[in-house]
Amino acid sequence: MVIQSIPFDEVGISSRSLLGALQTFHVWTVGCQMNKADSEKFAAGLVRAGLSFVEDPAEADLVVVNTCSVRQGAEDRASSKLGHLKKLRDTQRPGMKIAVMGCMVGPRHDGLKKRFPYVDVFARPQAFEDIIRAVVPDTDLGGEFWPQTVGQPEGVTAFVPVVHGCDKFCTYCIVPYRRGRERSRPLADIRHEVAVLAARGVREVTLLGQTVEAYGHDLQDPTDLADLFTMIHGVEGIERIRFLTSYPKDMTDRIIASVAELPKVCEYFNIPVQSGDDEILGAMRRGYTIGEYVERVEKINSVVPAASITTDLIVGFPGETEQQFLTSYELLERLRFDKVHVAAYSPRPGTIAFRKMDDDVPQEEKMRRLHAVEELQERVGREINRALAGTMQEVLVEEARDGRWTGRSRSNKLVHFSGECHVGDVITVTIEETSAWSLKGVKAPAERPDTAPARNLVDPANSESQPPRLG
Ligand code: SF4
Repeated sequence: MVIQSIPFDEVGISSRSLLGALQTFHVWTVGCQMNKADSEKFAAGLVRAGLSFVEDPAEADLVVVNTCSVRQGAEDRASSKLGHLKKLRDTQRPGMKIAVMGCMVGPRHDGLKKRFPYVDVFARPQAFEDIIRAVVPDTDLGGEFWPQTVGQPEGVTAFVPVVHGCDKFCTYCIVPYRRGRERSRPLADIRHEVAVLAARGVREVTLLGQTVEAYGHDLQDPTDLADLFTMIHGVEGIERIRFLTSYPKDMTDRIIASVAELPKVCEYFNIPVQSGDDEILGAMRRGYTIGEYVERVEKINSVVPAASITTDLIVGFPGETEQQFLTSYELLERLRFDKVHVAAYSPRPGTIAFRKMDDDVPQEEKMRRLHAVEELQERVGREINRALAGTMQEVLVEEARDGRWTGRSRSNKLVHFSGECHVGDVITVTIEETSAWSLKGVKAPAERPDTAPARNLVDPANSESQPPRLG
């Protein structure tokens, strides 16, 4: 079906399905925020093309499984979802089209075709057009269709990809092979998308990149993440700007200063360290030493003292000795992150580590290290959050759940509270109770929240933290 003239209405939604017999769709997503943003964009495109989203895949003409390959567990979940969909199609929904998208799909996917012969189409991340052409041959939505499609988030917060791909090639990571090299979106495109989101009621945008500070390096006119912050700062309706994920070597003083200077940019950094040991960092090819990493964290602490900082850590990387793990553990104790996303090393086919390194840390030892980090982090998180009791925090109201309001503070803490307000309001909450994972409070009449206390308020000498229980 070749579409000569697309019957879109004034908001760009077709009044009839442009995809032939396909009337309904369902998208299932696993993985990172980038995947979530891709799914939202694809779903928005299908709605523009006249299809309706259905919650129940049993009612869908097209089901898209958006996959992640970063850990084996994510692949296993997608495989099991596909098995379920096959059964559904065989028993209840003959004719349902099944598409697999995302990081499980490499340039060659013969192996996937053998494993899942019933899947209609495999498409690489963001290859939306490949899916459309495979399920409805000869369809042409027009070259501007996808660039002009803006994802429809469910609430008042939205993810906005600003730089795609990654050039870093860490030895354990499959992302550069699946998402390609770094490609920044033009400033004007991002501004347009953020303005559309604001007009639809979004109040907070999170700018996404695998290494978000790489933004602009590849654009013809020199620009960077700080310039992007400044531009989005001017978009009416947007109250908050966040950014994910940071890469220490790309985080310039200019970017850190802009977080301090621009009121809408929230004081929150996620900077994966991955290991506290220089030898392991070298084997991971992370491109920095622990000294350089700590210098960046100290810079943030001095320029943005109220910032919360979270990190990612891999335990059980090939060759990681107990002493090297303890070095990582001590770093976490010293830097006192607000949160640590810890993962046991999972060898990924296609990566350098998979090809060249022995996965020689036994699984149970990996899990023991992982639990030691989780235990430490629970104590540290509890201590950091305890310092917020009695303070007044700015909160964006995101939803009402279980009879209470929920939102996030500027420092990205989950806050539950009571009081009169509406979704999308930016209010002040007096914090009454704290735990390692969230804060509780009540809406305050005050207009101005307190500045969050500087990080590392708790003297490590008074910390409850104990050495890890390692054999
Ligand atoms: S920086 Fe490293 S870990 Fe992060 S996406 Fe790029 S290659 Fe993967």
